[in-house]
Amino acid sequence: MSYEYITRHNSPNYTRGRPVKINGIVIHHWGVTGQKFDNVVNYLCRSGGNSSAHYVVEGGRVACIVAPANTAWHAGVLAVNQRTIGIECRPEATDADYRTVAELVAELRAAYGPLPLSKHSDYKATSCPGVWDLARINQLASGDAGSVQPPPPTPSPAPDLGLVDVAARLPVLDLRNATAKPVAGMGVDVLQGLLMAHGQGPDGLTGRSGRPDGSAGDGTKTALLAYQRAHGLDGDAVAGAATWASLLTP
Ligand SMILES: [Zn+2]
Repeated sequence: MSYEYITRHNSPNYTRGRPVKINGIVIHHWGVTGQKFDNVVNYLCRSGGNSSAHYVVEGGRVACIVAPANTAWHAGVLAVNQRTIGIECRPEATDADYRTVAELVAELRAAYGPLPLSKHSDYKATSCPGVWDLARINQLASGDAGSVQPPPPTPSPAPDLGLVDVAARLPVLDLRNATAKPVAGMGVDVLQGLLMAHGQGPDGLTGRSGRPDGSAGDGTKTALLAYQRAHGLDGDAVAGAATWASLLTP
């Protein structure tokens, strides 16, 4: 990612988990031009509040204040909140703001599939999201579709996390290109260890070492694909929240 990713602010204004799968992104603006990013983050993180979002974004900065695995209170309609990710955008909507929002959207799609964008005003009588143009976000976001970028890390775990929360906070590991080149990264060794614990490998999984080595090549990719197909997951060689949750289940 090319922006500063901020995880130190955690909003208490959300409902734990989701009853349904994420299938969309709702674009908001925070309404008042001139209002500062930090003040918006603080407002949405206020204790006892009745509103939040998953992300607050301006050019070059993204704050994740509610993990996508949880239901943020952004759309004002429960059923919409339960199935969508909410992004609060800067109302000035500069080129830099668009670039960062589009980059985040591309990363979320890499993690959760081709999520369509909608406007807050699609669900409520509101002027939100102001001048934001969804077609332009889509155009910019699709420009990044060919590159393999890890999505943003999710906030550091809070105490008493459920399995789904833990899984959503693990890094998404994209092994689609692992044939050509080993993929190293945080959690690759954990992925290899879990695949082995589930009976995938170690043949070919870890190269010559016979142990998880944190560098995923063709063998790890093949084992991941086999695991995903055997467990009814999207067989895409991308270990996201659903795959992690499955692997973490004994
Ligand atoms: Zn809104």
